[in-house]
Amino acid sequence: MFNFLDSNNINQSYKGFTLLSIDDIPDYKAKGVYLRHKRTGLEVYHIIKDDKENLFAFAFRTISKDSLGTAHIMEHSTLCGSEKYPLKEPFSTLVGTSVNTFLNALTYPDKTVYPAASLIRDDYFNMMDVYADAVFFPKLEHVTFIQEGHRLELDENNNLSIQGVVYNEMKGNYSSFAQVAFKDQISAMFPDSFPQYESGGDPLEIPNLTYQAFLDFHQKFYNPDNCLLFLYGDIPTADQLDFLDQRFISRIEKKYNCIKDVENADSKLPVIKDEIKELQKLKLLTKSTEIRTLAPDTGATGNYVTMNWYTGEVNIEKYYLSEVIGGNDSSPLARALKESGLGDEVNCGNFGQFVQEIYSAGLWGVKKGNEKKVYDLIEKTIHEIYEKGIDQKDIDSAIMGIDFSLREENRYWGPVSIQIMEKVLKGWSNGKACPSLLTPITSFEALKKKLKEDKDFTRKLIKKYFIDQKVVVKFVSEASPEYFKQRNKAEENLIKKLEVNLDKAALKKDLEELHAYQQHVETPEETACIPTTKISSLDTKLDLPKIELKTIKASDGSDLSLFVSDEETNGLFYLDVLFPFDRLDAKYLQYLPFFSSTLTNLGWNGKKWDECIAECGCIMGDIWGRITTGFSGDSELSRKFVEKYKDYNFCNRQWIGISCKALSSMAKESLDLFSEIITEMSFDDEKRLSSLIQELKSEKKAGLVSGGRDYALKRARALSSPNQALSEIFWGISQLATVKTYTKQKVSETLKIFKYIYEECLKAGAVLHITADKESLKTILPMLQDFVQKSKLTKLLPGKEYSLEELKPFIYQSDYAEDLSKPQLIKVSSQTGYAAVSSPASQYLTKEAAAENVFSAWFNMHTLWDRIRMTGGAYGASFWPDNIEKTGIMTTYRDPSPEKSVQVYLEALKEISQTELPQEEIEKTIVSCYGDAIVPLCPKDRGARAFECFLYGNPVEFKQIRMDYLLKVTSKEVKNAAENLYSAAKKENHQVIFCDKSKKIGGNIIQIPL
Ligand SMILES: [Zn+2]
Repeated sequence: MFNFLDSNNINQSYKGFTLLSIDDIPDYKAKGVYLRHKRTGLEVYHIIKDDKENLFAFAFRTISKDSLGTAHIMEHSTLCGSEKYPLKEPFSTLVGTSVNTFLNALTYPDKTVYPAASLIRDDYFNMMDVYADAVFFPKLEHVTFIQEGHRLELDENNNLSIQGVVYNEMKGNYSSFAQVAFKDQISAMFPDSFPQYESGGDPLEIPNLTYQAFLDFHQKFYNPDNCLLFLYGDIPTADQLDFLDQRFISRIEKKYNCIKDVENADSKLPVIKDEIKELQKLKLLTKSTEIRTLAPDTGATGNYVTMNWYTGEVNIEKYYLSEVIGGNDSSPLARALKESGLGDEVNCGNFGQFVQEIYSAGLWGVKKGNEKKVYDLIEKTIHEIYEKGIDQKDIDSAIMGIDFSLREENRYWGPVSIQIMEKVLKGWSNGKACPSLLTPITSFEALKKKLKEDKDFTRKLIKKYFIDQKVVVKFVSEASPEYFKQRNKAEENLIKKLEVNLDKAALKKDLEELHAYQQHVETPEETACIPTTKISSLDTKLDLPKIELKTIKASDGSDLSLFVSDEETNGLFYLDVLFPFDRLDAKYLQYLPFFSSTLTNLGWNGKKWDECIAECGCIMGDIWGRITTGFSGDSELSRKFVEKYKDYNFCNRQWIGISCKALSSMAKESLDLFSEIITEMSFDDEKRLSSLIQELKSEKKAGLVSGGRDYALKRARALSSPNQALSEIFWGISQLATVKTYTKQKVSETLKIFKYIYEECLKAGAVLHITADKESLKTILPMLQDFVQKSKLTKLLPGKEYSLEELKPFIYQSDYAEDLSKPQLIKVSSQTGYAAVSSPASQYLTKEAAAENVFSAWFNMHTLWDRIRMTGGAYGASFWPDNIEKTGIMTTYRDPSPEKSVQVYLEALKEISQTELPQEEIEKTIVSCYGDAIVPLCPKDRGARAFECFLYGNPVEFKQIRMDYLLKVTSKEVKNAAENLYSAAKKENHQVIFCDKSKKIGGNIIQIPL
C-alpha cells in the first residue's frame, strides 16, 4: 500500500501521480496531500480529514478580458451532455437521483468550479464520474450553445428578441442598483485587467459570442494541465486516484494529446502556462482619481459613494483592522459615517476576491452633491483615529468577534468544506502553495500576541494601510433613470444590428432544432446511463438532534421551561429567551419586525447605544432580537403532542426572542450582561431610532426587486391561514405599508409603542433554550438559575390564537388577495420577474403528503425544468407542498415572462396528473428526496431546529415517520397525488405576478406602498 502521509514517499509516484508534498493543517485538524499527474498535468490536493461528508471539486482557471460571458455559458453547457452521458442535462438528472448533500457549478471572475459532496461513498463516485466526464468530454452541441448562451427568437407578433438562459440570468443581475454599483466599483479599480470585465456576461455583449469562439474556449482552458482537483474528507487518497486512473486518465491522455510528461512536472508549486499567467495579471490605478458611473435607480435611495485603497495580499492583520474601524455600528469609522446622516447605510470592509485586495469605506443613499462631504469625513476620521489612537474597547471587541467567528461552524451555502475549498483555490490557482491560506487561527494568535506587546500596533496598521498609501480611489455610482433608458436603447440597436446580418432560413432551422431538442422527453432507458444508488442500500434510520425539557425556578417561584440541546459547539453556547407576543391586540403586530430588530440596538441601563454595542462586543459573539412564529397543523400526532404539553403553555405560541451567542469561557459575564439588557432595555433614543428608520427604509427599497420572489410568494399565501397572514404582515408587501408610517415626526410615538409591546411581552412569561457542548453545559446550566432570577423571568401565561378575520385589516389591499378571478400584480422597474401560485395540498404526516413530496421533486427536475427553465428562459422554477399548512406552492425565479409561466405550470400539472410514471423513476426520485433529508446541519442549527419543532408540535422524531412513508411511495400514489393537486388547483389558486411596469397583463395591481 502506498502511504500518502509518509514523507519518505515524497517525489514517489502512484499510478502516474507524483506525491509533491504533505502538509500539516492544525487549524482544521487535517492533513493535506499535493499531487500532480505527470503525463496530463492534472493537479490534486486532498485534505484528509475525519469527516464523512466527502467533497470533490474540479476547478479550471478561466479568464477573459471581455464581457461575453464565455466562462459562464461554458459552465452551464458542460453540464448539458457528455460522451458517456449523452443526455440533455446529466446535471439535473443527477440532482434528481443522487443522495448528494451539495451539487453545484460556479463561475468566478478567474475560475470555474464544479463541486459536489455526499455522505455516501458510492454516490460520491457516481457524481465524480458524471462531473469528470462533463468537464473533460462535454458534447457542447450548437443547440446547447443557443439554449444556454444566446439566440434570436420571433414572438407571435413577429418581433425579434434575444433569449438564452445565461442571457436572461444576467439581465437579472443588471436590474438592481446595488449589484450594478458594486460591480462597477470593482471594475474601476482594475483597469485593463480581467476584473474590469463581467465574467458572468453583460447582456449587451453576450450576443457577440460566436459558437466557434465558445468551442475554442473549452480547448484552451479545460485542458487537464489547467485543472485543479480539490478533494476533502475521509475517502482514502488511493481510492480516489484509482478511480480517476481506471475511468479517465487514458481517455484524457488520448483526447488532450498528452504524449510526454508536462513541463516542470516535479515543481513543488502549481504550474501555470505563460498565456494564463499573463491573463491573471492585475493592473492597478497608479494615481488617485475619482470615477463616476451610472446605475439603475431601482431600489436606490441616493448615490453610492466610497473611497478605496489597495491593501495587497490577504492577511489576518487587515481582517482585524477592518473589524476594528468598521466591523459594527459602534466602530469609529462606521459610527462617524452613520452619525453624519449623509447616507442611509454604511459600507465598510475588505474586498478579498482577488490576489490584490481592496479596502472600501463609504455610504449608500447619498444625495447628489454630498459626495465631497463623504470623502472629507472619511479622511478626517481616519486621521483622527490615527492621531488619537483606538479605544481599547474597540480593540477588544474586534478580537472577541474574530475569536468567536474562527470557532463557529457555519453552513452558509453548502458544506463547511466549501469554505476551505475557496481558500485553497485562491492560492493554488494563482501559483501559491495550496495550504498557504489555511492558518487563520495560528495567524490570529500571533497577531493577538503582537497587539498585547505593542499597544501602538493598531495605529501602525492604520498608517501602513491608509496614511502611507499613495493611491486613493473615489468612486460614485449615480442612481439614474437614464441607465435603463440607455441600456434599452443599446439593446434595440443590438437587435437591429443582428437583424441586418440575419440569415432567416438558418435561424428558422436552428430554432426548429432547438424546439425539437427541448420537447424531447428522455425515456428511462436513456437516463439509465446515470449511475444511481438503490433505496435498499440506504441507511433508513436518521440522525436526529436530541432535546431535553427541564424546569427551572422562575423569579415568581413557579416553574419555567428550559430546553437543552447538547451539540458539538466547540466551546461556544447559544441562549434563547423567548417571550410570547400573542396576548397583544392585533393592531400591534405589524410593528413587531422592526421592533424586534431594534431590540438590543437602542441602548440600556442609561447608557448610549454605541457604548452598549461596544461593551457587548467585548463580552459576547453577538446578541439580537428576533421573531418566531408557526403552528402545528391538524395532524393527529401533532395534536396529541400539543395536548401532552398543554399545561406548559409553550406549544403553538408566537414569540419575540432575544438570543445571544458567546464563548463558554465568558458565560458568567455574558449572562450578567444579558440580564441587564432584559431588565434595563431603553426606548428613549430618538436620534438613534431615526437613523435606524432611515436604514430600514433604504434596505426595504434596495431589496424590493431581488426579494421579488418572496414578496410574490407571501402575497399568494396571505389568506391561507392566520400563520400565513402573519407572515405577509411581517415580511410581505403589507409590511412596506407599515414601514412607510415610520417617520421622523412620529419617532417618539413609535418608541412609546415599542416600550408598551416590550413590557406586555415580558409580563406574558418566558421560555429558555440553550445549545452547547457537554463541557460548556456543565458550567453554564448551574448559572441559569441565577440568570432567571436576575432577569426577573416569570412563568408563561396562556396565549390566544389570532383569527384570519382579526388579521385581515392589516393585510394591505386585502380585497385583492381575496379575489381569485384575477392575478395580483406587483409592478416595479425590473428587467426580470417572478411568479407565485398557491393552491391546496394534503395533510402533514400522511402517505398522501409523502407522495406529494416525491411528485414535487420529480416535477421540478423534469417538467418545470424543461418547460420553464429550458424553454421559457427563467432561471429557476419550483413547486413544493407545505403540508403543515396544507398548501402547494409554485414559484419562478428571474423569469422573463412570469405570466406565461403560471399557465405553463397549470397545464403541466394537468398533463402529468394523467400519466403514471415508471416505478424505477419514482425510486430514483425517492433516493434524491432522502439525500435532501440527510443534509447535515451545523451544531447551532441542530439545536435551533429541535427547539422550534418541539414548540410547534412536530418534534424532530416525526421526521423519521415522514422518512418511513417516503421510502414506501409507489408510482400509483404519485399519480394520485398529482391528480389531487391538479383538481385542487383547478378549483382554487392564488396567482401573484411580480414584473416590470411596462408589461401589459390583466389583474389587480398592488401599489407598492413605499
Ligand atoms: Zn448561471
